[in-house]
Amino acid sequence: MRRKLAAGNWKMNGTTASLSEIEKLLETHPDPACEMLICPPATLIAQMAWRCRNKHLKIGGQDCHWAASGAHTGDISAAMLADAGASHVILGHSERRTDHGETDAMVLEKTRAAWAAGLIAVVCVGETERQRDLGTTLPVVGGQLDTSLPEGCTAANTVVAYEPVWAIGTGRTPTLDEIAEVHRFMRATLVERFGDEGAGIALLYGGSVKPSNAAEIFAVADVDGALVGGASLKAADFGAIVDALAAA
Ligand code: PEP
Repeated sequence: MRRKLAAGNWKMNGTTASLSEIEKLLETHPDPACEMLICPPATLIAQMAWRCRNKHLKIGGQDCHWAASGAHTGDISAAMLADAGASHVILGHSERRTDHGETDAMVLEKTRAAWAAGLIAVVCVGETERQRDLGTTLPVVGGQLDTSLPEGCTAANTVVAYEPVWAIGTGRTPTLDEIAEVHRFMRATLVERFGDEGAGIALLYGGSVKPSNAAEIFAVADVDGALVGGASLKAADFGAIVDALAAA
């Protein structure tokens, strides 16, 4: 059985006032039938992780450096995230790739660093609108999987999120058939490379997931959950998405 994971990416949103959303989520979803993960800004990880200790809500980072420590002003290492109480880290999000020039090679090194610190890597891949229009979605995603994922990927240490860049924060989503095609392709690619472990790696869909479309997306084969941006900021919306996943 693959893990089912509802993951929230708060991006650069949230201050201590937002801790109340975590309280609400813990109240309404004390023991959901799927895993829940919130990745807040780094400033909130320690407080949230402390609040969520012994609860069914995991806390993660949104990025880490590939080095364990050193002269990297403004960066944060995987070991620091783990020390703050994080269990996961999102890597290679398209906003990191666009805003900070992150390459697949960097994502691969970051993934290794995450594992070394005992974190689960949530590695993001996805095509731009132009790449989809050109019909190159599968080669693009395949190339990202090949060069972003190191040897040693297992169902326990890695989650892969398919996030079409053009669907993030836009309210637009691929059709269910398009999601199915990419997830089927990713599954086959991971199985070919990692065998049984590839068959067990959870595959998330991300890009404008909301309470109104979550159930139909979770009904797609090989969709094991979602990476949710905007709709993860409010406990009520994220909770509804968790409910849809738990019921899938
Ligand atoms: C994301 O940031 O990973 C994301 C999927 O955002 P949104 O749900 O807002 O499209």
